[in-house]
Amino acid sequence: MKEEEILEGLHAQGATEVQIIKRKEKEDKLVNTKMAIVTLKKPKIPRKVDFGLYMLKVELYVPRPMRCTMCMRLGHTKKWCKGEQVCAKCSKPMHLNQCNETKCISCGENHHTLDKNCPVYLDEYEIQRIRTEKRIAYGEARRIRRGLSGPTGRNQDNIRKNDTNNNQDNNHRKHNTNYNKHRKHDT
Ligand SMILES: [Zn+2]
Ligand SMILES: [Zn+2]
Ligand SMILES: [Zn+2]
Repeated sequence: MKEEEILEGLHAQGATEVQIIKRKEKEDKLVNTKMAIVTLKKPKIPRKVDFGLYMLKVELYVPRPMRCTMCMRLGHTKKWCKGEQVCAKCSKPMHLNQCNETKCISCGENHHTLDKNCPVYLDEYEIQRIRTEKRIAYGEARRIRRGLSGPTGRNQDNIRKNDTNNNQDNNHRKHNTNYNKHRKHDT
């Protein structure tokens, strides 16, 4: 099924954008999965959407934390990087010879910087989840995560202000839609 067809089928339910999630196969060939990211212009996320013969399951899509491929730090992309290129395995400036240690640039622990179990990465993901769920700015979500909600925590987030500029329009929510799983019963 094509993206345009899904969009057409979900138009009445408020869908404004459809992007089928692809998976890499052998020789870097991209194949469609049964999941799609659908942007719905709705005040509340429905749990299911009606798609002709099917009822589609809807889940909130939490965007992965941004990571710079130059300095490997979280929170910005290569385009805005003011740092120097580092090795993701040992956190030292980029080198050609082999790494002699494994050190994460985010937390300093003994693992690869891209390790998904890194506590700093997981914390950042949690902020993204709060931000998406509550449809709030990054700084606000970070305050909630740090337990600093309320006016006292306000000043601390000025440094991260630029991050919110990269965020998507909060009125447009993205959802994962599994469009084959739930078949509607014909009664
Ligand atoms: Zn950077
Ligand atoms: Zn290295
Ligand atoms: Zn780490």
